[in-house]
Amino acid sequence: MVRTQPAPRRAGRSGASAGTVLRTVLERGPIARSTIARVTGLSPATVTTASAQLVERGLLRELPEISGPTGLGRPHVPVDLDESRYVVYGIHLAMTHVTTALLDLRGRVLARSRDPHFGLGPAEILRDAVTTLEGLAAEHGDMSVPIGVGFAAGGWIDSESGVVRDHPIPGWNGYPVRADLEHRTGLDVRMDSHARALIDAEVLFGEPRVRESVVQLFVGNVVDAAFATGGVVHHGPRAAAGAVAHVPVEHSVEKCACGRTGCVQATLSDRVLVRRAMQLGIIERPIFRDLLDAGRRRQPAALALFAERAHGVGVVAARLLDLFNPEVLIVCDQGVSHIPGSLDAVRRAVADASATCDDPSNSVLSTSFPGRALPVSAGAVILAELYRTPLASFVRPLAGIS
Ligand SMILES: [Zn+2]
Repeated sequence: MVRTQPAPRRAGRSGASAGTVLRTVLERGPIARSTIARVTGLSPATVTTASAQLVERGLLRELPEISGPTGLGRPHVPVDLDESRYVVYGIHLAMTHVTTALLDLRGRVLARSRDPHFGLGPAEILRDAVTTLEGLAAEHGDMSVPIGVGFAAGGWIDSESGVVRDHPIPGWNGYPVRADLEHRTGLDVRMDSHARALIDAEVLFGEPRVRESVVQLFVGNVVDAAFATGGVVHHGPRAAAGAVAHVPVEHSVEKCACGRTGCVQATLSDRVLVRRAMQLGIIERPIFRDLLDAGRRRQPAALALFAERAHGVGVVAARLLDLFNPEVLIVCDQGVSHIPGSLDAVRRAVADASATCDDPSNSVLSTSFPGRALPVSAGAVILAELYRTPLASFVRPLAGIS
């Protein structure tokens, strides 16, 4: 594996300006430096300096000179992202599988693998994930340099200390994932909850309206949420924000692992849906994908199960909308992404249950990353920091890369 040394930490205004320039190029590139100055409000001199630093690090490239429409006026040299030089690694931990992926600077998944982890311990699972990543990088076969590893999972992920605090797989509780992965890869490692990471991904690569304010609701085998204003995700003390798994759902009698009855996670999770689908004879194997396939084929009993879950998701979404009043609430739920009518069912439940949201078709959206939310969330953990502070993190001037 090609490795870079961590760059010396440098913060401050020039770092923040470079982040602003890099994000503007991501959104609008190729773009002239004068236009960057105009749309960001940064001075032309600041944009010139930041662009030069980003070009020097291989994050931006200069395109051939363009003259004005008449051939008169000052010619300018637009800049664009240099996508060829770097990749990030992503590792997403789910209840039964690990997803590993290579992503480029635009958050595109270049290669991925989804592998069962058979309930191994964290050290073995991370060892295997790193081996898989090295295999993907070799198969991908280019000379891109990995600039870091992002780790995402459901549950309570303490991004500050680099430790998993509370995950439905008990063996992970207290495990120092960041230290383990840094030791194994020699790369910078960042970790976060997948709900928070998906907000970062939407801010950078998805729905622009989330930059105002957003609630992200993730529904899979774990159910959790995250909140951001002004593009900044709220973590709170020990990064505990967003734990909605054990919020009670009306009329639910499902027993939860926490000992109570009727928790959101126990009522709406993929596993509960699979169990009920097996009982109803909709699927023959306890595999969520089989249930999704039945729903896609519009099998009536499968559609009814997904509609019921969508209603429950809508009720939880309504509570979150009333609590946070965000510009948008984004649902990441494979049923909502793939089953016809599911998003409408969520919106109807929101309309019924929310005291404040009067236009769910405008405020409740499905994820921008259907079918790839897990690898994108993992990669976004590291990409978010790169786009925040590109000079302080990971990437050194090119002369520094051996
Ligand atoms: Zn519970």
